[in-house]
Amino acid sequence: MQNIPLIDIEREYKTQKSRIDTAVLRVLGSGRYVMGDEVKAFEEEFARYTGVRHAVAVGSGTDALTITLAAMGIGAGDEVITTPFTFFATAESIAAVGATPVFADVDASTLNIDVSEIENKITGRTKAIMPVHIFGRCSDMNGINAAAKNAGIKVVEDACQAVGAEYNGKRAGSLGDAGCFSFFPTKNVGCAGDGGMITTNDDELALMCRAIRNHGSGAEGARAAKLDTAENADKYHNYIVGCNSRLDEIQAAVLKVKLEAYPKALGSRLNAVRLYRRLLADIKGIELPPDDEGCVYHMLTLQSDKRDKTVEALRLRGIAAGVYYSVPLHLQRAFHCLGYKQGDLKNAERAAQRVFSLPLFASITADEQHSVAAALKEIEND
Ligand SMILES: *Cc1c(COP(=O)(O)O)cnc(C)c1O
Repeated sequence: MQNIPLIDIEREYKTQKSRIDTAVLRVLGSGRYVMGDEVKAFEEEFARYTGVRHAVAVGSGTDALTITLAAMGIGAGDEVITTPFTFFATAESIAAVGATPVFADVDASTLNIDVSEIENKITGRTKAIMPVHIFGRCSDMNGINAAAKNAGIKVVEDACQAVGAEYNGKRAGSLGDAGCFSFFPTKNVGCAGDGGMITTNDDELALMCRAIRNHGSGAEGARAAKLDTAENADKYHNYIVGCNSRLDEIQAAVLKVKLEAYPKALGSRLNAVRLYRRLLADIKGIELPPDDEGCVYHMLTLQSDKRDKTVEALRLRGIAAGVYYSVPLHLQRAFHCLGYKQGDLKNAERAAQRVFSLPLFASITADEQHSVAAALKEIEND
């Protein structure tokens, strides 16, 4: 039987094997494994690519979100408005700093947060809006920034699925006060483990993030604490309370290779999406996502009223479809304490019943895509 995975990380590695291997061995031979030249170079390259002044590398996308909120001084008693249709870490980061996630429903077609739902969720306690560019499609940032400006609050983009996504000619991560990225292996730019990045044009916020990711120690900690003795700061003196969330040198070295290869890989991914669109155009009962420019398709996510049957039938044919996300965050057990109930956020709940994602990665073959499309056609016309 055929076996078409949702994402083939091993195949992706093999397309760049010699360059990645060389990079990893270079780090191993250097004896410098934490906070060295590789991280510095990757931060600079990522900032340039994203179009921001600062990029601060951290241990994961989750940490990027949590550290950014902490650096903004958001904590207990504060509220952050976000989408319920996302990976758990989005709202988890808000809870992790002691603040309360407030969920606003999504648009039924883009599956991104609906700006018209944001405005009536803003209270005196709201400190930020955290839109997620879900599946690589930018949220309505004009509307979100306008709402935030009106209320005098911050915008933190969860751009974990959206490296390189464009909106009005600017890239995700440069569209709000800060952007947060994940380099988890399955993401569009993935490393060989965990990794993340914070992007911003705000000098003070960047400095605070740098201090927090490394125990608030040394010169960065002292400057973040606004001490005028910062130049003489000691590595073993801690000036603010932070955490340990650094990107490893090995991961930075891998990511430099991945980022350099990304424009080409993204082109292949977008070509694959175009082929899927042609092959799937006339299947009844399947709803394709909007075909707007700038989306980087972390996933190609379709909607169908008989999603569970379809996914199971694909699985029986050796095709791995994914379901992201089957439980909207306001209905997750961990957030029962927030008091939401079924029916509160209808579009997110409906999407959770209907979405499924097709196999998609830069090195997927046209043959594989034809097999997926043929299987879907057979299943849906059954
Ligand atoms: C992957 C992801 C995260 C978390 O990133 P990690 O690197 O796994 O911690 C957060 N938000 C979204 C939308 C994600 O897709």
